[in-house]
Amino acid sequence: MNTDKSQQMFARAQQLIPGGVDSPVRACKSVGCDPVFIQRANGSKIYDVDGNSYIDYIGSWGPMILGHNHPAVSEAIRKAMLDGTSFGAPCGLEIDLAELVIQAVPSIEMVRFVSSGTEATMSAVRLARGYTGRKVVVKFDGGYHGHADSFLVKAGSGVITLGIPGSPGVPEDIVRNTMSIPYNNLTKLEETLRNQALDIACVIIEPIAGNMGVVAPAPGFLKKLRELTTELGIVLIFDEVITGFRASLGGAQAKFGITPDLTCLGKIIGGGLPVGAYGGKKAIMEMISPVGPVYQAGTLSGNPLAMAAGKATLQELMKPGFYEELDRKSEGFGQRLLALANKHLPGQVCLNQMGSVLTLFFTGGPVTDFESAMHADTHRYGRYYREMRSAGIYLAPAQFEGMFMSAAHTEADFGETLAKAESVFIKLAE
Ligand SMILES: *Cc1c(COP(=O)(O)O)cnc(C)c1O
Repeated sequence: MNTDKSQQMFARAQQLIPGGVDSPVRACKSVGCDPVFIQRANGSKIYDVDGNSYIDYIGSWGPMILGHNHPAVSEAIRKAMLDGTSFGAPCGLEIDLAELVIQAVPSIEMVRFVSSGTEATMSAVRLARGYTGRKVVVKFDGGYHGHADSFLVKAGSGVITLGIPGSPGVPEDIVRNTMSIPYNNLTKLEETLRNQALDIACVIIEPIAGNMGVVAPAPGFLKKLRELTTELGIVLIFDEVITGFRASLGGAQAKFGITPDLTCLGKIIGGGLPVGAYGGKKAIMEMISPVGPVYQAGTLSGNPLAMAAGKATLQELMKPGFYEELDRKSEGFGQRLLALANKHLPGQVCLNQMGSVLTLFFTGGPVTDFESAMHADTHRYGRYYREMRSAGIYLAPAQFEGMFMSAAHTEADFGETLAKAESVFIKLAE
């Protein structure tokens, strides 16, 4: 596969942009190669500047659940664009999207739109602190909640992949107010939350972890978390930036029947444009400025193009049977992928899947938390990634991420992917 143009562009980009990328994992460092530069995408396919095509399983890291260039979404953006691209004033599309979000997500009574998942989580934590008058944020090891200062303690996603424990530039004072505890560990959870000396404002959790690879919550874990936080007056924040409109229309909270106090959304909610949101109980949301004293604002928040893309996306997702069909075909694919991996690499892989997102871990597993995820052989994943990319299959360039399926993936895409994966597993077994 010829990637000359990508290589030239990467060299130029590195002179101008740190690492040549605007988000670290894209640089492909942990998989031992250089990135390809993308020209365009359509449906389940993505095309690089050298004219190579790939079946895309990143889907822009989750947002493209309908596939790229979905006609309804593209049309909605085009239509909105003709009326101007930004007003910095209220517009009807914000109300339309708010109504859809509130209708879809059980715990959300009011919602505020921002422009990224990071902004959503950062604002939700400020709100929880303002509401409770307390300081400490509890998160889980391997959980990723965007790049705000408070979250860069034992974080997942690129923070794990690049092997950095926290981040320089985050003051000690802030780190001191973040506690990270093991995911799926009930004893540690109860002990921490009951520690009165800690002054805990909120717990933030990915209800299905997605940034140490996919890891499901242990049976009863979320229920116990809800009971404890209710009892102790701690705000429970579900970071559903990945799972929102992915685990089900109502996210992981609808799937598991747990009601958080606040929910953070991102990725799918913008249909490929930059949108984040946080929402929840009215009594808490009304603490936000201008109704209440907790300040949060955004010049481009509620941007009409972004709202139009989100609205068109959610309308597609609300069509009957959407998730049943997507989950059925994704799970079938996952099972076949695992069977092939087991055939050639017995005892050396495990697969975690929740509907249309999965992680194939290069460890015998099981992977149930950050520590067990760390047993994965990242060098082997790197080789798997490189071989698959050369064969036209575009996977996440890091072990601790998901493989995202979309409505646009066809049986033919899956068949081709499995055939290529099998030949790569055979090479890895040699
Ligand atoms: C991607 C992600 C974020 C951050 O969203 P950005 O839009 O990248 O700022 C936060 N939380 C989770 C769970 C995510 O996966």
